[in-house]
This record gives sequence, C-alpha cells and structure tokens, in this order.
Amino acid sequence: IIFDDDSGRMLADLDHPDAEFEVARGGKGGRGNPRFATAVNRAPASAELGLPGQSRTLRLELKLMADVGVIGYPNAGKSTLLSVISAAKPKIGDFPFTTLVPNLGVVTVPGDDRSFVAADIPGLIEGAHEGKGLGSTFLRHIERTRLLLHLVDIASVEGRDPVEDYHQINEELAKFNPQLAQLPQIIVPTKIDLLPDDELVEEFAREVGRDVFPISAATNKGITPLLRAVADKLDTLPLASPIRQYKEEDDELIELTPEPGIKVKRENEDYVVTGRRVEILAAKTDFNNEDAVRNFVHMAKKIGVFDQLAKAGAKPGDTVIIAGREFDYE
Ligand code: GDP
Ligand code: MG
Repeated sequence: IIFDDDSGRMLADLDHPDAEFEVARGGKGGRGNPRFATAVNRAPASAELGLPGQSRTLRLELKLMADVGVIGYPNAGKSTLLSVISAAKPKIGDFPFTTLVPNLGVVTVPGDDRSFVAADIPGLIEGAHEGKGLGSTFLRHIERTRLLLHLVDIASVEGRDPVEDYHQINEELAKFNPQLAQLPQIIVPTKIDLLPDDELVEEFAREVGRDVFPISAATNKGITPLLRAVADKLDTLPLASPIRQYKEEDDELIELTPEPGIKVKRENEDYVVTGRRVEILAAKTDFNNEDAVRNFVHMAKKIGVFDQLAKAGAKPGDTVIIAGREFDYE
C-alpha cells in the first residue's frame, strides 16, 4: 500500500500480481538541438534541458496475502499447526514476537487437489491493537485474509478460561479494525490429546455458541476434517479479501508555480521574477551554453519579463532572480 507521507493519503493498494501505480511523473523532456535548426545554422549547439520531475515522499506498507489467518492466544498452538499442515518451519513454543513477519505455508488438503495459503499470526494479546508487544505489526497482515482460524487452547491453560481467551481475542480484533471482527472464523479447540474425554470440548462449544473443529497437532486428530472444512468455506468466499482500503482519488500533478503571468517582487535590493512560463523557460535553459542563454533572453523579452522589470523600477546593474538564478539586469 502506497501512502503520500506528507498528507497521509493512500495512493494505491497493489493487491494483485503485476499491479502498477505511477507515484511520480518525470519532467517533460527538453527539445533537442535539431528543433532549433535554421537555414543558416543547421546544427545549432544548444538544446533545451528537461523540466524537473515530480518529487514526493512516500510511505510503503507491506501486507502479506494469505487465504487464512491463524489467530489465538500465545501458546494456543498456532505455529505447531502451521508446521504440521504445511512445509513452513515456524518457531514453536518460542517467545511470540521473535520475527517481524508472519510465517506463511501452503496447505494441501489431504485426498483432495485443493490448497490454500495460511499465515501464522502471533501477537494477539490484550493491548495488541495499541502496538503493545508488536501485536499491530502482525495484525495488519490478517487484513488481507479471507478466513480466520481461531485457535483456543482448551487443555493446558493454567489459570485462564478458554471461553474468556476466545472473547478477548475477538475484542482485540474489533479494536484494531472492526472489519476484521466481521471476517468468517472457524473455531479450533487445540491440544485435545491432553484431554481425557470430549466433555471440555462440548462445554466450550456450548458456551461460545458455535460449531467447533477440535484438533491435536500432536496426534493429528481432527486435522483432516479441519482442512476440508477450511477448503469448503474458502470455496464459498470471494477470492479477494473483503477488507479493502484503497479509494480512487485524483492524483494531481505538482506544478512548478500555480500562477500564470509574470510577477516582479522587490526583495531586499533584488527583483524576484515569478510566473509559470518564465520559470519553465529558465528550467529548460542550459545556462552553460551561449546560444541557449541568448534564446532565453530573447524569449524572456517576448513574454514580457523585461517590461515588468522596467515597470517595477529595475535599473541596469540591479540583480534579478528567476527560478533561483541570479542575473544582472542590463
Ligand atoms: P503459538 O504461540 O500459538 O504459536 O503456540 P506453539 O505452536 O508455539 O505451541 C505452544 C506450545 O504448545 C508448544 O510447547 C507446543 O509443543 C505445544 N503444543 C502445540 N500443539 C499441541 C498439541 O496438539 N498437543 C500438545 N500436547 N501440545 C501442543
Ligand atoms: Mg507461534
């Protein structure tokens, strides 16, 4: 995503392969010397310089694109799941904020030719939307997903309530970007190998009022049904993420000087000449070239620069400034 850093305005969202956007235009090229050829001077030694190009400060924001974002409390088993269902090698059981970019993995559904890209998004904890614990660095990446897998450790949480964990993660999502809370979710209770029976899973499903897909990444239990459910759900969803930020807006060219005509202003002892035409003329002139300078003086006279200087009271020997260049008035 490209932002104009001065105004903060979003200019473009390059959200598909080969997307292009012109962020700044080069200056118009100057005319070459054949353009100034005459019957007597077939190969003039002077040519125009090109106009300066547009210049602006940009901020570029990277958003990874994955079909599925894997979210949940630290230690819910997100990285373990990704390592089991794809070739990705995320760090497991690590401090949640060791990398600045989420891990991506291509997941193939067993016995099926469908596949999707899943991203392991660490850092969803209370306060993550305020940038605490680097959470927001990761959170913005899920803005490009179509479906969320919400992992909840229902077996090994000590002193925490899985139902509360589930709601807290959803609150974090909504605080960071309300649109994220609207993304479809598949709820996945994890680490069921640590449970003696299904009772806790059923209780959890009842309390959150949702269908759940319990798994164990350790024993592989529930993984294939989960992947089928994910692929089925993705088949029903549009290909692009529903969260779009780019609004098409006019991208005006920065002009050299907005005003037409010629203005002469007294500044200290000097005469400052402004005006679009004369500034373009000066910008195009190669002042190291005598012919070009002669042409500049000729054109400046023609468009009225000397008349305006005389009116303003300029006398021979005074300093005249045009487009930041000093000239002796004669
Ligand atoms: P993350 O913070 O959500 O990425 O969690 P990790 O994938 O790093 O897992 C946290 C801890 O839970 C690690 O010690 C894992 O080995 C463990 N773990 C993950 N999945 C399972 C599982 O299915 N069963 C069991 N018993 N432990 C698991
Ligand atoms: Mg992890």
